[in-house]
Amino acid sequence: MALDIGGSHVEYGIVYRDRLLAKDTIAVRHPLLTALLPQLEAGLHALARQSAMDPTQMAGVAVGICAIVHEDGSILATNGKYDDGVGFNFPRWCETRFGLPCKAENDTRLALIGEHFAGAAKGFDDAVLVTLGTGIGGAVLLGGKLLRSGSRKAGGLAGHLGVDWKGRVCTCGNRGCAEAEASTVSLNAICREHTGYRRSMLAEKMGAIDFETLFAAVDAEDAVACEVLEHCVGVWAALTVTLIHAYDPQVIVFGGGVMQRQEWILPRIRDHVNRHAWAQKGSVSIVPSLLGPAAALLGGLPLLQGNV
Ligand SMILES: [Zn+2]
Repeated sequence: MALDIGGSHVEYGIVYRDRLLAKDTIAVRHPLLTALLPQLEAGLHALARQSAMDPTQMAGVAVGICAIVHEDGSILATNGKYDDGVGFNFPRWCETRFGLPCKAENDTRLALIGEHFAGAAKGFDDAVLVTLGTGIGGAVLLGGKLLRSGSRKAGGLAGHLGVDWKGRVCTCGNRGCAEAEASTVSLNAICREHTGYRRSMLAEKMGAIDFETLFAAVDAEDAVACEVLEHCVGVWAALTVTLIHAYDPQVIVFGGGVMQRQEWILPRIRDHVNRHAWAQKGSVSIVPSLLGPAAALLGGLPLLQGNV
């Protein structure tokens, strides 16, 4: 069984090798672990019944969560989501609720394991995953093993690599992080501070501007929207070069909601990389996620087997 606990929804499923036999989703309004756990327990038992699986036949439970996770499977630190879960130990919970072993990992790392096992990074042992969503997430695999460090942050802070030392102050305290310069969390402010904003169709938008709104305005050839998108793609391209210089990957996989418009984004990033990265032209594959929201679930088996 595998769980992918994100900030706005939870995916969970029964996995057999590289296939999802059954899956379901829980929408999360307030990301609190204490409220979620009883739903997850009931949901996993229901999925096992539907797929006629006896939990005792299963290899275990793999958990991905949007938090920093200790190697013993407990939550080490959170950032505004599941803050009530710091110190919570998933293996102990799984043992008492399902009688199964459990391993837990950061959700972006688990998604990279999935993409390496059965998706866009298959066949590449040096790989980076970047997720462009509400924020910017990252994970790194070198020599087929996840890059981890004592405090478990290594490779996970792609969104907090600086792209402009005079840039916006980020939630992490740094200035000019990629996430502060080009992600959904900062997009609204970037648009509204543009000198042409009042003449833009974006000004008609009630509430916060997200990338869906921005792309709709770009499709309508709104000049401010086009400039803001060029800025964001420039930030992502600069970040990609930094990731290549830091980790020397064979492939960089891009995931997250913004990738719905990958045909607009990835060719521009590839062009920038070919011109600016210290790497042979075309030597780093820059590709979209193949598994999408299922990536972390399909990372479950290799995580449980301890191969990563
Ligand atoms: Zn930051």
